[in-house]
Amino acid sequence: MSLPTHAETPVAIAIHGGAGTIERGRLSDEQEASIRSALTAAARAGHQVLAEGGSSLDAVTVAVRLLEDAPEFNAGRGAVLTFDGTVELDASIMDGASLAAGAVAGMTGVRHPIEAARRVMSESPHVMLVGSGADAFARAQGLEFKDPDWFITEFRLQQLRAVQARQQSATQLSEDWFSTVGAVALDAEGNLAAATSTGGMTNKRWGRVGDSPIIGAGTYADNRSCAVSATGHGEYFIRHAVAHEICARVRLTGVTLADAADAVVNQVLREAGGDGGVIAVDPAGNISMPFNTPGMYRASIDVDGHLRVAIYGDDD
Ligand code: ASP
Repeated sequence: MSLPTHAETPVAIAIHGGAGTIERGRLSDEQEASIRSALTAAARAGHQVLAEGGSSLDAVTVAVRLLEDAPEFNAGRGAVLTFDGTVELDASIMDGASLAAGAVAGMTGVRHPIEAARRVMSESPHVMLVGSGADAFARAQGLEFKDPDWFITEFRLQQLRAVQARQQSATQLSEDWFSTVGAVALDAEGNLAAATSTGGMTNKRWGRVGDSPIIGAGTYADNRSCAVSATGHGEYFIRHAVAHEICARVRLTGVTLADAADAVVNQVLREAGGDGGVIAVDPAGNISMPFNTPGMYRASIDVDGHLRVAIYGDDD
């Protein structure tokens, strides 16, 4: 009996670059083109890892690293700014085969927070490190650091000024546009992985941390059900343990991934008032990408190798 070759076993990847009031006309043609090309490049890079027999963990890491470097998205370079005009970066990653996970929050200078999360998973006995401790750990791991100014784009400065100008209270966050990044993948061994990276929400303060680095809220992967990465108003995603909730429904109730993801995003979150969406993949390679906002930056390459890149709700 011969083992299946990589070409015979299904692989799949989905990525997102955030959800929100992304309506036609809000983006210039130039912005839209650069977002679509960044999404395409990240999906292709992750898929190439899978097609060559690489792991789903490597695929999601490669895809998220590229999106962290793309200034259009709220992760790594181009992350949203805090109340004080600084960046505080959060990320997490999970291995569906072992349920191993790593997360970081409130990092200030690491170029690729997803690498830091991955090292927490593979090189430490912990799941989550925060703030100066996470920075020190990443430095000890030899990860690349950049000056604070390297992360800050003119667009994010303007966004912060606009939010602060219209704020009614010092705690108000920007709530209409989320551009966190994430990836989920199925590899040729049948293993699932999920990864998410973000700067959080514009004008955040007092060490606020959202769902993205919280295992079970913004990120979850379990070979028995699915892999999920979320984007949206993090406080709601934490309260409803969104990523784990979708996986638990698939594993325990036997509903399809599409039904579970749709119910959590379009019923549970919508009723609670939580804006956002998720990307998810199951062990058969089914991909689901529901969102309850006008748009979500997203791309996928399915088990047939079909690439799909979309922004708006009616993009199909
Ligand atoms: N979920 C992220 C947070 O609340 C924001 C985003 O998706 O852009 O920190």
